[in-house]
Amino acid sequence: MEIHLHNKTFTPYISESEIQQSVKNIAKKISNNYKNETPLFLGVLNGSFIFCADLLKEYKHACNISFIKLASYEQTTSTGTVNELIGLNEDLTNRTVIVLEDIVDTGNTLEKIVEILKQQPIKEFKIATLFLKPDVYKKEIFIDYVGLEIKNNFIVGYGLDYDGLGRNLKEVYKLKEN
Ligand code: 5GP
Ligand code: MG
Repeated sequence: MEIHLHNKTFTPYISESEIQQSVKNIAKKISNNYKNETPLFLGVLNGSFIFCADLLKEYKHACNISFIKLASYEQTTSTGTVNELIGLNEDLTNRTVIVLEDIVDTGNTLEKIVEILKQQPIKEFKIATLFLKPDVYKKEIFIDYVGLEIKNNFIVGYGLDYDGLGRNLKEVYKLKEN
């Protein structure tokens, strides 16, 4: 069923069960790689908060979680400039950091995060994203874990918003083209 957020219409795109299956797959892959150390998950706010919560519930080994907040989107297009709103405040010495992104679009946000992490005395970092738009992503940064690849649609739900609305939807909707 269509939904309306502000002045726009969205149609169902990815079901709750498909999302949950992707989250489980990512958790399982990460679990297999980090049985013997405690990774620090780094969630990228705001969009990844539900993904982070669900992923951590599926992650069966010791782990830590922290968050970073950046902003690049205005309405439905990326502005290209990314601002750091909440920075890193823990000791990351020798830690394996696994970045948790809701979605990678142009990769501008990811590039900024990698820039920040490279200034830290970490052991290594890995990137996990629930959604990736491969047709738009133009950066060289390797993405280690991808949940679902999607077309170049603007999506909402499961943490992702349109101008503040839609984050609480259990499934993902896409902007309806007129
Ligand atoms: P990028 O910097 O890769 O262009 O965009 C990354 C950020 O923009 C994401 O973390 C997300 O917050 C936002 N974003 C990118 N694509 C979408 C989309 O289709 N829908 C929504 N709601 N946000 C998006
Ligand atoms: Mg984000």
